[in-house]
Amino acid sequence: MPLFEYAPAPESRSIVDIAPSYGLFIDGEFGEAKDTFKTVNPATEEVLSEVALAGPEDVDRAVAAARRAFESWSALPGSERAKYLFRIARILQERSRELAVLESLDNGKPIRESRDVDLPLVAAHFFYYAGWADKLKYAGLGPDPRPLGVAGQVIPWNFPLLMLAWKIAPALATGNTVVLKPAETTPLSALFFADVCRQADLPPGVVNIVTGAGDTGRYLVEHPDVNKVAFTGSTEVGRQIARSVAGTGKKLTLELGGKAANIVFDDAPIDQAVEGIVNGIFFNQGHVCCAGSRLLVQESIATELLDSLKRRMATLRVGDPLDKNTDVGAINSKAQLDRITELSEIGAGEGAERWSPPCELPDRGFWFAPTIFTGVTQAHRIAREEIFGPVLSVLTFRTPAEAIEKANNTPYGLSAGIWSEKGSRILAVADKLRAGVVWANTFNKFDPTSPFGGYKESGYGREGGRHGLEAYLA
Ligand code: NAP
Ligand code: MG
Repeated sequence: MPLFEYAPAPESRSIVDIAPSYGLFIDGEFGEAKDTFKTVNPATEEVLSEVALAGPEDVDRAVAAARRAFESWSALPGSERAKYLFRIARILQERSRELAVLESLDNGKPIRESRDVDLPLVAAHFFYYAGWADKLKYAGLGPDPRPLGVAGQVIPWNFPLLMLAWKIAPALATGNTVVLKPAETTPLSALFFADVCRQADLPPGVVNIVTGAGDTGRYLVEHPDVNKVAFTGSTEVGRQIARSVAGTGKKLTLELGGKAANIVFDDAPIDQAVEGIVNGIFFNQGHVCCAGSRLLVQESIATELLDSLKRRMATLRVGDPLDKNTDVGAINSKAQLDRITELSEIGAGEGAERWSPPCELPDRGFWFAPTIFTGVTQAHRIAREEIFGPVLSVLTFRTPAEAIEKANNTPYGLSAGIWSEKGSRILAVADKLRAGVVWANTFNKFDPTSPFGGYKESGYGREGGRHGLEAYLA
């Protein structure tokens, strides 16, 4: 037992007003659809709201609205489009507490993260791309880069509002209009964003939100009048989309899965590395495409590092996402919990040693204790497949060459981390890692000015930074 217990410090949910039902946001108006589905709070299984399920005709109407709006939106001077984006960014800041609580309710992530990471980054993305809107000719993409038209955007449930920002901010800055489909389990923050657009007087049709499940996403990406498809999600669905978009002339970016190596060398500052490992895999319950899910630790320090990691893990607080003390919240859905459970059982079955700190999980809702597996080899499924949960696979290495070889031995290539006191070693190793983002002596750091994206089965195209403009310009 810890010496001192924290008193609960729950954030009030009264700041957010969730309606019993929501329609589709098309052409600046909320309207009904034939079918609906429910979205729940994964920490309690309480139904939060009933949301419209967009069918093919609804997607048609949304794309038509975006097409109509494109003409005038793309003709606006960049400085005028920037005003809308700056306004949206400021409203997001003003409403950030409300949106953070909403995001934690619908997604299950700790309020500490939605408040201190998601929301500030969401606003920062809009501010950043607002700044580009009138400077597109200086982006290195030719003297007169043109928008593509209507962007069909499909996003996952792990960072609902942040993924929306990554998609919508660059699309609007470059003069495109948007139809966005949020994930089935986390539609609410996108619907609140629709309200932010209205508050900002964004012209109708520039942003349309169609809620629904996988089929709604498929109607959208396969719609013949969409010019650009941007997808973040699993490699499996990404592959299907690549197939359906091939030969249509639509421009495509795919941000898919990952199985990042977090490499700790014997000269690394251990305490700092332990913080980075924890942040790398337990941040957002490990529902992070670039999570440091494979720890590669140099053999000579493995025992010391793992002891220290276990001590640190024992202090993680798992529970109520709205409690400001909570470090690890709820797993987003029953389906995801089942997948994490299954892969963890496979890991133990294949002979890896499983460890979790003692922790009491709530009775209702979807929960998984922070878990590490030691004695993992490269052949284990938990070393190869994305678990997308709070589960770390630990492997060891003896030489830098072995670390690099193991780190690159994956079908993915989204991110990696290096921990070492030696700058020359960091640069030499980073240069050989086949990953889109390499962090040194830190992990899971995001910034709108910095491009993000993968190699190999992690997808293609970059989001963020100047590179992120390219995906939306001809
Ligand atoms: P997913 O099943 O691929 O879903 C992603 C989105 O696509 C959801 O909105 C989903 O709708 C929709 N969708 C499903 N089937 C579709 C289809 N046939 N056509 C068009 N859209 C379709 O992935 P997920 O389980 O939600 O998210 C987890 C995955 O996303 C992980 O593999 C993770 O690595 C990856 N991810 C990558 C990044 C990155 O930046 N690289 C960031 C975050 C997550 P429904 O939810 O309604 O089914
Ligand atoms: Mg939900």
